[in-house]
Amino acid sequence: MNKPFILTAEGVTKSFDGFKAINDLNFYLDEGELRTIIGPNGAGKSTFLDLITGRTRPDEGQIEFKDTPVTKKSEYQIYRMGIGRKFQTPSVYSDHTVYENILLGLKGSRGVWSAIFGKVTPAQNERIFQVLETINLKDKAQVRAGALAHGQKQWLEIGMLIAQDPELMLVDEPAAGMTDEETARTGELLLSLAGKHTIIVSEHEMVFGRQLASKVTVLHQGSVLCEGSLDEIQNDERVIEVYLGRKKKHEAIHAEH
Ligand code: ADP
Ligand code: MG
Repeated sequence: MNKPFILTAEGVTKSFDGFKAINDLNFYLDEGELRTIIGPNGAGKSTFLDLITGRTRPDEGQIEFKDTPVTKKSEYQIYRMGIGRKFQTPSVYSDHTVYENILLGLKGSRGVWSAIFGKVTPAQNERIFQVLETINLKDKAQVRAGALAHGQKQWLEIGMLIAQDPELMLVDEPAAGMTDEETARTGELLLSLAGKHTIIVSEHEMVFGRQLASKVTVLHQGSVLCEGSLDEIQNDERVIEVYLGRKKKHEAIHAEH
């Protein structure tokens, strides 16, 4: 018997004002897998992650996490089932320190105040510093999160996700706005988490290149265009058309967004 998938999406459709942001999407993820979802801006990557985490409800179709449908569960219930998510735009608590942000990840987003003002156990303190070490922000522990550079905020939010320790991590465009060096470090960070977690990483271009060596799903107009290794998808005519075709229309698209 084949191992069951950790996550499946079948026939999922989601419209906004009649526009199908997700259109009959089918997606299957193995337990322990690191998967990259790429697609141009507007392909539906963030919407797909919103649907998995219960932030948005599908019009049609089913999403199951470990054989349990998530489509009728609340965001909090889905979080409790073991799905964690990093948003495309870092949503750290700017007025709190880096240390406190990781503490919040550790304790969950409920009870923010008890997390900040409650007692931190030695085990929690140790865990927080482990996470800070992983995301390379140990020397910034007492810095206000709002004062971090953009790339560091992205790492901090990944750190909050690590502290939360979800079985499935959804990481939406972690390299957006990063320098090449920061991107490479983010790739290393994701690789260090792979194996311990099942991970979906989205990106709008193949910024990590070969670094992640993961299976790639290309999303286009809310559907899976193709899936395979980086080599396979880079040589796929449809992918070339979507990316190069888009480049030609770059200005028009820029005006759109
Ligand atoms: P991606 O993350 O791949 O760039 P998104 O999932 O953000 O794509 O968006 C897919 C499409 O759905 C876009 O055309 C976007 O404008 C639209 N969309 C996403 N969220 C909403 C919303 N809440 N209301 C209306 N349109 C939306
Ligand atoms: Mg997005």
